[in-house]
Parts: sequence; C-alpha cells; structure tokens
Amino acid sequence: MKRCPICNKSEEDTVFFGEFCESCARKRMLGDLEGKVKKIDIIKCKSCGRIKFSGEYKENEADTVGRIVGKEISPLKFSLYAYNGKTIEGIATKREHNEVLQAEVVFRADEKNVMCQDCYRRRSGYYEAVFQLRGNSERVKKLARKLNEFFSRYDGFVSKTEEKGNGLDVYVSSKILSAKFIEIGRLKPTISYTLFTVKNNKKIYRNTYALHL
Ligand SMILES: [Zn+2]
Ligand SMILES: [Zn+2]
Repeated sequence: MKRCPICNKSEEDTVFFGEFCESCARKRMLGDLEGKVKKIDIIKCKSCGRIKFSGEYKENEADTVGRIVGKEISPLKFSLYAYNGKTIEGIATKREHNEVLQAEVVFRADEKNVMCQDCYRRRSGYYEAVFQLRGNSERVKKLARKLNEFFSRYDGFVSKTEEKGNGLDVYVSSKILSAKFIEIGRLKPTISYTLFTVKNNKKIYRNTYALHL
C-alpha cells in the first residue's frame, strides 16, 4: 500500500496526489511557489488605470492581473480571487496526469505607477497631423466636430484646435486615423509634409491636410 513519505499516512487514510498525500503535496506546492515568486510586479498607468501585460496596456484589471500571475507561476494555473494593489489572492492549480491539486495562494504585489504612452501623448500635446479647415464657417465647425468624434471612437485624440482668421487648425494624434478619416469622408485635401523628428535614421513627417470647404 502507498504511504506518504512525509507524514506516513496511507492511501486508506487520505487522498493522494502523486507519491504524497494531498495535504503534504499542497504544502510542498505552496513552498515551491514561495521560493519561486517573492512578489508580483504590476505596472499600472496612473492616468488611465490600465495595466501592462506583454508590452501592451490592458483595460480589464482583474483579467490582466490574473494573466500576469499565471505567467509567473506557469505551468501552474491561476484564477484570481481578489486584488487590492498590495496583495493578490487566488487559487493555484497543479495538474499531473489525471490528478488535480489546488491551493489558495496570496502573493505580495508591487504596484508601480507609470504613465502609458497614450496618456503621455495626450498630456504633452502630441500630434502627427494637422487638418487646416478653411471656408464656410458652419462647414468648418461641422468637420471639426466630426474629427473629434472620429478620433475618440478609434482611441485617438485631438490634441488642440486653433482658431485661424478664416477657419480652424485641428491637431490630431494619428496619421493612420487621419488617412482613414479622409478615405471614409471622401475628402480631397491638399497634403503637405513638415519634418517632425528623425528616429533610427528615418525621417518622420507631420502631415498637413488643407481643406477648403
Ligand atoms: Zn503526507
Ligand atoms: Zn494611460
């Protein structure tokens, strides 16, 4: 008959996980985890609250914290129970052959507050393109409103709008979104380019779209 090499209980007395009784196996698993994971780093944007996971900021806090822990304790699985910025509680699951072992675990979390690139850009007035809207003032205002709605719908932003004598200059966050806006609206702007910066030997331009409405 199988006996637990740690506590000497037999298969008749208790359930086993592998060669150990379940209770000793659980203690060993918790001991391993304690040795392996001292604390879990959580990188959180102090402005939008999103949490970084594999290079991207994610909206769903619980889901993301769960995935961060899961990656840390792999091949064990983790399901989140609670997170308060200082501790992470949940259930760790170990699977071996057809046996399953679970334990409640608590990890110390080290939450680092940063500012994500999106929030940083919003704050610093970042822009990649300017729409120069000229002509009929009602049409100019209407198109400026559409730009605002369009950019916020697609996770971009308008960093500023300047009144000019005969229209508006609308500074926007993305050239890609600008191209999409122009395509969808079937607009025919006059495009010009000004050098913005040089990055890895590449000249990066800001686009100006002049529209007469
Ligand atoms: Zn035992
Ligand atoms: Zn942010």
